[in-house]
Amino acid sequence: MATATRTDPLAYLGDQIAEWKGAGTYQRLRVLESACAAESKFDGREVINLASNNYLGLTTHPKVIEAAIDATRRYGAGSGAVRTISGTMELHMELERRIARFKNVEACVVFQSGFAANAGTVSAILTPEDHIISDELNHASIIDGCRLSKAKIHVFPHKDHEAAARILAELEGKPGRKLLITDGVFSMDGDIGPLPQLVEAAERYGAIMMIDDAHSSGVLGRNGRGTVDHFGLHGRVDVQVGTLSKAVGVLGGYVCGSRNLIEFLYHRARPFLFSTSHPPAVAAACLAAFDVLENEPERIERLWENTRYFKRGLTSAGFNTGISETPITPVIVGEAARAHQFSAELFREGVLATGIGFPTVARDRARVRTIVTATHTREELDSALDIFRRVGQRMGIID
Ligand SMILES: *Cc1c(COP(=O)(O)O)cnc(C)c1O
Repeated sequence: MATATRTDPLAYLGDQIAEWKGAGTYQRLRVLESACAAESKFDGREVINLASNNYLGLTTHPKVIEAAIDATRRYGAGSGAVRTISGTMELHMELERRIARFKNVEACVVFQSGFAANAGTVSAILTPEDHIISDELNHASIIDGCRLSKAKIHVFPHKDHEAAARILAELEGKPGRKLLITDGVFSMDGDIGPLPQLVEAAERYGAIMMIDDAHSSGVLGRNGRGTVDHFGLHGRVDVQVGTLSKAVGVLGGYVCGSRNLIEFLYHRARPFLFSTSHPPAVAAACLAAFDVLENEPERIERLWENTRYFKRGLTSAGFNTGISETPITPVIVGEAARAHQFSAELFREGVLATGIGFPTVARDRARVRTIVTATHTREELDSALDIFRRVGQRMGIID
């Protein structure tokens, strides 16, 4: 019996990929062939790595590595189940208590990632009757959480706290709860959210205040406690999200707040209920990383020294570094194709810095994004600056 030739029902995906290749927006994955560090090997090439979120160099800290190995030997490679069935180990509980103490809040729940923490929390605590007031540049995981909640979404222009307050004023007296939500540090421009003003607006209109501190955990505030500590807003932010994947150097996300908030999320946050908990190595490595944050504050000082040095080098060479206030420093060049070419040439000369274009950033604001870490040496930063100047002049980005 002859079988009809099967046509691939997914052929449209290939058409889309071909279109991306034609437009020059197709992205091949760079393969990291060493540990993530100040200098790393990608695609067979040793380069200065200005493209990681490993702010404090904790991915390779001996105490963090040792903790992961030790926990694996004792407790195995995996946890075996979701937290609510049988996958809650003492290490998971200890990490949550540790973070709650560090952040000066009643309680904490750890999720598999920062993405899961945001999406799982926003969708769990709101219903379709509620309202979300959200900065236009908030992270994708917040946006997905907002959509999953089916609440009404009101987007305000970037950092425009007066616009946020106006939206809250218009909603006054209407049914439904209000959630005001912002990133602490924005990942594309490295600018800091106007938290004191937003917190005030939330208090004035009785809204829930939520902050995503993914890029501020381990970077801002005492010992890296985040933007709430940086601005002295303890007790005035209802939901604080942080990540264990960036400066903490491992993997995971957490939510800090009242005991009730955390108990509620234990019962209703879907990534917590329906996805397996961290391997013991992850929880133990995170615990060790918090020891390092508390015992080696000089790492954070070095991060900021390096940040100031590198930013000064870029601006005095004539580059446009935008409005950054943190170790995330964009070098803005205009069109997306130009940013991708800039990134490719930097890589050829020995620097990895990611090209980012539309739709992640505005069409005429494409950039190469740099993130220095505490572990970059002065020589590495000087050499990276030399390469930026050389390639920038060759491409006519600077004089
Ligand atoms: C990276 C990031 C996340 C996601 O964190 P992961 O732990 O990598 O999932 C969430 N929010 C913001 C603002 C981020 O930059």
